[in-house]
Amino acid sequence: MKISKIDHIGIAVKDLKKVGSLYSDAFGLKVSDEIDAPERKLRIAFTEVSGVKLEFLMPTDKESVVAKFIDKRGEGIHHICFEVSDIEKAISELRDKGVELVDEKPRLGVEGDKIVFLQPMSTFGVLIELKEK
Ligand code: ZN
Repeated sequence: MKISKIDHIGIAVKDLKKVGSLYSDAFGLKVSDEIDAPERKLRIAFTEVSGVKLEFLMPTDKESVVAKFIDKRGEGIHHICFEVSDIEKAISELRDKGVELVDEKPRLGVEGDKIVFLQPMSTFGVLIELKEK
């Protein structure tokens, strides 16, 4: 398996507007429009620093996994996403090495790419997302 880069870092937030203001007004970054992801019960916005995106995840429902994350651990870094060239191959290699996955098979992320999440119990507490461009 070959990781080509960090695609983005996911950050759990309670208020997308306030976070957007901080990153645009205080940090001088360009923050995207908000994107609805109803199937994940989230609203999402992005910004980017030298090719690495920050993905701000705001739950829209208290049953969202991100809402549960915020309840337990507070706002902050939620996951890190690595870009891979062949996600199916990466999954089978990781399975062979005993790494467990959250998803059985790749699904489509908000940006339309194939993604999969690894089980944080297998990765020392870090939720890792893999994305194939
Ligand atoms: Zn992500």
